[in-house]
Amino acid sequence: MVRTIELSRRQQKIIQIVKDNGPITGEHIADQLDLTRATLRPDLAILTMAGFLEARPRVGYFYTGKNGSQLLTEKIKKITANDYQSMPVIVNEEASVYDAICTMFLEDVGTLFVVDSQSLLVGVLSRKDLLRASLGQQDLNQIPVNIIMTRMPNVAMCEKDDLLIDVANKIIEKQIDAVPIVKPITDTQFEVVGRVTKTNITKAFIDLVNDEIV
Ligand code: ADP
Repeated sequence: MVRTIELSRRQQKIIQIVKDNGPITGEHIADQLDLTRATLRPDLAILTMAGFLEARPRVGYFYTGKNGSQLLTEKIKKITANDYQSMPVIVNEEASVYDAICTMFLEDVGTLFVVDSQSLLVGVLSRKDLLRASLGQQDLNQIPVNIIMTRMPNVAMCEKDDLLIDVANKIIEKQIDAVPIVKPITDTQFEVVGRVTKTNITKAFIDLVNDEIV
């Protein structure tokens, strides 16, 4: 269920009072609204957690000066690839196109990462790569995936601490569906430790709407 929490009229009033009078104590805000401090407590907690207000002990509430969209941008810029990753599905470079097609169906993914005998990333295979290879009359059991894959160094990758928004930009820029999350072993050698797909990014988008005040 998609649930968007919007600021209530009372919360908007509180923001206005703090904007005009801050720093101001919770008690004084309550007085201005003819409410008790206890009634106001949940609203103040929400507004503080969402970043609209800042609470300083023994001083009171300040208006942070940030609007909903600035706060949302700040939130987005804290999400990393690590927060929204999936398990990578990997095939060996010697595997046949036929085996790769079976793996893609069995694992229910659209992108496979190809590794060498040392488990280092050597390429990537998409649905279209496998479809293209299937168009000819060749025996798919006889074609190794390393002939048809997109190979290193042309594979777009990310690391687990990279921002999800930067990964999203990479996916759009390169017109691809997924990037591997890698752990560098040397400057040119990478181990695959995860995967970020368009689905992961869509999930992050939905979570932002469900959980946050926008
Ligand atoms: P599809 O082929 O199903 O449309 P993509 O858009 O992901 O899926 O793939 C398009 C092409 O880009 C394919 O040839 C694929 O090998 C290549 N590709 C896929 N992912 C990457 C990546 N992370 N880095 C570089 N090339 C990629």
